[in-house]
Amino acid sequence: MSHVLEIHDLSASVAERQILNGIDLIVRSGEVHAVMGPNGAGKSTLSAVLMGKAGYTVLGGSVTLDGQDLLAMPTWQRAQAGLHLVMQYPTEVPGVSVEDALRQAHLARRAEGGGEMRSRLEAEAARIGYASRLLDRSMNVDLSGGEKKRNETVQLAVLQPKFAILDELDSGLDIDALRDCARRVEDLTNEIGLGVVAITHYNRLLEELRPDFVHILVRGRIVASGGPELADQLERDGYAAFAGADEPASTVQAAAVRPSSLDELFGGLR
Ligand code: ADP
Ligand code: MG
Repeated sequence: MSHVLEIHDLSASVAERQILNGIDLIVRSGEVHAVMGPNGAGKSTLSAVLMGKAGYTVLGGSVTLDGQDLLAMPTWQRAQAGLHLVMQYPTEVPGVSVEDALRQAHLARRAEGGGEMRSRLEAEAARIGYASRLLDRSMNVDLSGGEKKRNETVQLAVLQPKFAILDELDSGLDIDALRDCARRVEDLTNEIGLGVVAITHYNRLLEELRPDFVHILVRGRIVASGGPELADQLERDGYAAFAGADEPASTVQAAAVRPSSLDELFGGLR
């Protein structure tokens, strides 16, 4: 069955500052949309607003999944409706195993197969080279960057949502883990028709996870959309080429080297 995630003219603020300035994006089942942009462009804000994270205020626009108004739902209902977020910095949840979390998620969705959770987890772990002994650890506790993202990818593959937002799946990953995770996501687009919004700085992720569409996000706005060739152009010319007439290139350069905020690092813990 084909599904559609529609974002229309979405604008949002955080800490009383407007960050998203009218985002339009339509994602259908099986499609991969790369959203690329410099640091501070609003990429993580977009993922937080789509998922309904606390502290973000929607100022206008709409987000629907198969016509259902996601913005009117709390986060858990958005997840039930079929939206899944792989966070840039996965949250540690002491005392909760991946198996427990996924079994609960399955129960909440009244999905079949909750009882075979262990074997499904082990099969997925084996498939992307994630040591199954790590499945017994508390969620993301004492995992390396690469292990966290493999762990996240295992969860995604077991949960099989309709749409996944990957917020810099490539951050903190070595090249092998990146390849394994990106390939698994690519396979999911073919196997179950997963629709993907892949947020990333770099082309590297897109070598394995082939985008159908590439969008350039600068200062909370999509300033260019196209096919995979747009990512190549970006690699060549940098974000400055997409800054737009009202935006001096130097400002964009400055934004590109600004480190991620501490709040983004620790926001997941609140
Ligand atoms: P990106 O993911 O593209 O690097 P973000 O969406 O994380 O960018 O951040 C966009 C802007 O919003 C930045 O200036 C950042 O400091 C600000 N911001 C994001 N989240 C918060 C927050 N929770 N509190 C205050 N400012 C925030
Ligand atoms: Mg980010």
